[in-house]
Amino acid sequence: MDADVLIAGAGPVGAVLAALLAQQGVSAILADRETGIYRQPRAAHFDAEIMRIFQQIGIADAVAAEARTISAYEFVNGGGDVLMRFDVPPMTAQGWPASFMFHQPAMETALRAKLAGAPQVDLALGWALASFRQDDGGVTAMLRRGDEERRVRVRYLVGCDGGNSLVRKAIDAPLFDYGFDEPWLVIDTVMPDESRLKPCGVQVCDPRRPTTIMPMSPGRRRWEFMLLPGETAEDMLDDTRIAELLAPYAAPGEAELVRKAVYRFHGLVATRWREGRVLLAGDAAHQMPPFAGQGMCSGLRDAANLAWKLAFVLRGDAGDGLLDTYQSEREPHVRTIIEGAIAMGKIVCTLDAGQAAARDAHMIAARAMQRGAPAQVPGGGALPQGCLFESPRAGEIAPQPRIGTQRLDDVVGHGFTLATATAVTGLRAYVTTIDPGTFADAPAWAKWLGAAPAALIQPDRYVFGTGPAADLLAALSSALAG
Ligand SMILES: Cc1cc2nc3c(=O)[nH]c(=O)nc-3n(C[C@H](O)[C@H](O)[C@H](O)COP(=O)(O)OP(=O)(O)OC[C@H]3O[C@@H](n4cnc5c(N)ncnc54)[C@H](O)[C@@H]3O)c2cc1C
Repeated sequence: MDADVLIAGAGPVGAVLAALLAQQGVSAILADRETGIYRQPRAAHFDAEIMRIFQQIGIADAVAAEARTISAYEFVNGGGDVLMRFDVPPMTAQGWPASFMFHQPAMETALRAKLAGAPQVDLALGWALASFRQDDGGVTAMLRRGDEERRVRVRYLVGCDGGNSLVRKAIDAPLFDYGFDEPWLVIDTVMPDESRLKPCGVQVCDPRRPTTIMPMSPGRRRWEFMLLPGETAEDMLDDTRIAELLAPYAAPGEAELVRKAVYRFHGLVATRWREGRVLLAGDAAHQMPPFAGQGMCSGLRDAANLAWKLAFVLRGDAGDGLLDTYQSEREPHVRTIIEGAIAMGKIVCTLDAGQAAARDAHMIAARAMQRGAPAQVPGGGALPQGCLFESPRAGEIAPQPRIGTQRLDDVVGHGFTLATATAVTGLRAYVTTIDPGTFADAPAWAKWLGAAPAALIQPDRYVFGTGPAADLLAALSSALAG
């Protein structure tokens, strides 16, 4: 074997997967057909759970240095009336703010630097996965760089190779299409003085020109303009046209155009994420319109879910059947988010003036009835049963209390965490215990846990289950046996 795992694609999802596998002691070849990172951001937003993954990898400070938090996300109509408003909490039980607007190239640079220092990761940059075949013992893959070929033999292959995934096509995994397909122009600018703009994310649901205005990292602002019927990508990418579109928001010279692209926003999910020793993650497995800012986030959740399962299987701590719980846990979660993003998209992308007026009247009335109460921030909810132990809190992301000045995850490491006040003996090496009495906010933890005497937290920080410690450990043994 040349490595345990071949990861095809070193975008955010492949790179995070490699970093998490390395922490588990799993070796990986991380191959990308490009030699450098993609210099322009696509994702602009990530959430607290994702910052927790960055924390685990050790890049949270570097990412935070080029990020900012926002306090709200608004949907307004063409006249500026608020139709819907999400309040974004400045702090969550995860130990991080709910939302970050960030600079993707800065995050990917920090990630690549981490990977360069990880002896378990072979960064094969410039090498494209060309073909592969699997047998009972592993996967043999051919990588290509120009005229050069490199044959590699690994135990598992993970396709993190984006929306046009070669791996997905090769395992013949059909895509479920939600039937949402809208063309949008995306413009990124550098804007040193943003004081004239709202500090929050705004969806302008104006049927004359649906528009998105998003803060990115400090001093950067994104606009997205929906293409109207008859408009072409070529028309919209013209700089004079872009200046006209930006004119209502920024005076000439106020916003320097650094990137322009036309995307089709759609919702797609591969119906099969695993074929034997070959798995899919990130955009290779699912894509969504960006209205919830969750495409990359969902891919990074895939990486966190898959990394520990692959590690446990490769080490012999779990049966290969554990890998089947990857799709059964992740797919319903990501589908909920995609459906939420499409629902938001349908509000924004209404082009019929009559329908837009009816929508506005309905949403403004609903908001008045709720006395302006904020809408719920969309999320995927708890994971459904996969390898989890059916009990209260199972499948939820666990809180991350502080212990003194440290965060829980930094104290407990990369295995399972059994939070219990009672001493437990005979634990497997991959289970660490911690006494919740040491948590800075022990009453908040006790309230979250309820009557259960213990909680078992997975390496991806999701709750395996709550209940008596002995029951949890027995359930874990049988879940890992696959
Ligand atoms: C306009 C826009 C805004 C967005 N905003 C957000 C947001 O705010 N928040 C959010 O969470 N998400 C957002 N997204 C979604 C996010 O950008 C994607 O979900 C994310 O980039 C997917 O990451 P990935 O690693 O799966 O795929 P990619 O980033 O596409 O990376 C795939 C990698 O695979 C490589 N590759 C491809 N084929 C091969 C091969 N054969 N061999 C080797 N390497 C290969 C490519 O070079 C690339 O590096 C947005 C997307 C768009 C378009």
